[in-house]
Amino acid sequence: MSETESKNFIEQIIEKDLAEGACSTVCTRFPPEPNGYLHIGHAKSILLNYGLAQKYHGKFNMRFDDTNPTKEDIEFVESIKADIQWLGADWEDRLFFASDYFGQMYDAAEKLIKKGKAYVSDLTADQIREYRGTLTEPGREDPASKRTVEENLKLFREMRDGKYGDGEKVLRARIDMASPNINMRDPVIYRVAHMTHHNTGDQWCIYPMYDFAHPIEDAIEGVTHSICTLEFEDHRPLYDWVVRELEYPNPPKQIEFAKLYLKNVVTGKRYIKKLVQDGIVDGWDDPRLVSIAALRRRGFTPESIKMFVELCGVSKANSTADYAALEYCIREDLKAKAPRYMAILDPVKLIIDNYPEDQTEMLTAANNPENEALGSREVPFGRELYIEREDFMEEPPKKYFRLYPGNEVRLMNAYYVKCTGCVKDESGRVTEVHCTYDPASRGGSSPDGRKVRGTIHWVAAAAAITAEVRLYENIIDEEKGVYNEEDGSLNLNPHSLTVLKDCKLEPAFAGAKAYDRFQFVRQGFFCVDAKDSAEGRLVFNRIVSLKSSFVLPKTV
Ligand code: ATP
Ligand code: MG
Repeated sequence: MSETESKNFIEQIIEKDLAEGACSTVCTRFPPEPNGYLHIGHAKSILLNYGLAQKYHGKFNMRFDDTNPTKEDIEFVESIKADIQWLGADWEDRLFFASDYFGQMYDAAEKLIKKGKAYVSDLTADQIREYRGTLTEPGREDPASKRTVEENLKLFREMRDGKYGDGEKVLRARIDMASPNINMRDPVIYRVAHMTHHNTGDQWCIYPMYDFAHPIEDAIEGVTHSICTLEFEDHRPLYDWVVRELEYPNPPKQIEFAKLYLKNVVTGKRYIKKLVQDGIVDGWDDPRLVSIAALRRRGFTPESIKMFVELCGVSKANSTADYAALEYCIREDLKAKAPRYMAILDPVKLIIDNYPEDQTEMLTAANNPENEALGSREVPFGRELYIEREDFMEEPPKKYFRLYPGNEVRLMNAYYVKCTGCVKDESGRVTEVHCTYDPASRGGSSPDGRKVRGTIHWVAAAAAITAEVRLYENIIDEEKGVYNEEDGSLNLNPHSLTVLKDCKLEPAFAGAKAYDRFQFVRQGFFCVDAKDSAEGRLVFNRIVSLKSSFVLPKTV
């Protein structure tokens, strides 16, 4: 974003590695576990990895880290692929599944056993934890650590052949039970789990642990820079140990960066699952969520998300970003791209008493005053229009420049009109506003140079398209914060969704399709909802209003 390009710390590492010949090309990867939908935080990781591969003319691999057999896996594979493609990260022909490497991982484990670097243990999970020691106390040797290579090989093969039940035996790396880093105290690298895997079925009943599997996956694919988040920093010595002991010729390098957090925003799978189950949201792609599917449905563009993650930067220090920054990015992206049409969200009729009945005329309006390339359109105008209810007040406060009896305003791209009064129903609700127009002010300016202070938008009643519009606020009650301190539940905002069923749109909206984005004049940016719109039924999501409290930081 800044004018003079500054390099982030990962770029500095890569450039040093290239300069020193530690690697000759760059290969990065994105390794999601297919156990949920991707969210805005993952987008950061995807765009970072893909962006680095592009910048250094290297490769970006897509790899499902599916070493952990669970039932739900397959369901998420397709959604993850679609999200990454939508973001524009292209893995070309390099779509991999870690489970395809189970054979090589098994061989790697045998290699460690043969080198005396791994042994089969009989300890239970609880015992392993107890033997491991604490931050202040060293761990104790596993009684099985003295087993011979032959014994270990025999037992490991028996594990593989299904001779033991879940948890009965594990394979541990032999490193250092006294290491100050607990991850190095003979970590478990293989476990018995009699589970069916979505890819390998019942072929295996032993599965590798993440810390063992991940470096092998990277090494097999020729990944040069394995970028992960900070919580893996203490695991790096183990990562390095695995690639060193397995003697890979071009060992990959792990680099950690800080996760992206958004203030007052829920991303946790557990919480979102509950919101879906409780029917509070309409699925994982509910536009109030920040899964990539939800952001896409709401109307965010890949460009806006890219701009946002770039704005957040890459660092080693944890920090939280504001949702307002994301809103800033989508406004910036759409302001010149999206057509700017008139739509009335809360309509009331405006009747021009001196305009001929049955007359319609076409007025010309620019499609986007900030972008001439979008051209112009003809907008029908007639005696009866819809205007926003809030653009009329019978008794206006000071500084209200819109319609009130006796006041003259400009109807955008049309005429000057002067309010003459209103009609109300028994409850006192305004049902019609009346006015007269000045035929000489066609196009929105008066030949006698008379000025008006207010300009309002409108839609001709006879030609209006009725649509549903959904307005969103944060699903979290920001005053209270995300979590309820007493029971750990979410503090929900009861007003996070407002549905307006009778909005009036100018005819230019006819033919709008799923994901089409518009600026509604004076209102904000809106997107055609892809899930609930149908032939003859338009539903719009408000992406963001026009008002902004966000200020772009001076130094990015
Ligand atoms: P889980 O909590 O279930 O492990 P996860 O969000 O870590 O979920 P993964 O599928 O393991 O999900 O993540 C894939 C990649 O995305 C990892 O490399 C991880 O470091 C990165 N990632 C996850 N969350 C964030 C985040 N908030 N910001 C940046 N990167 C993230
Ligand atoms: Mg994870």
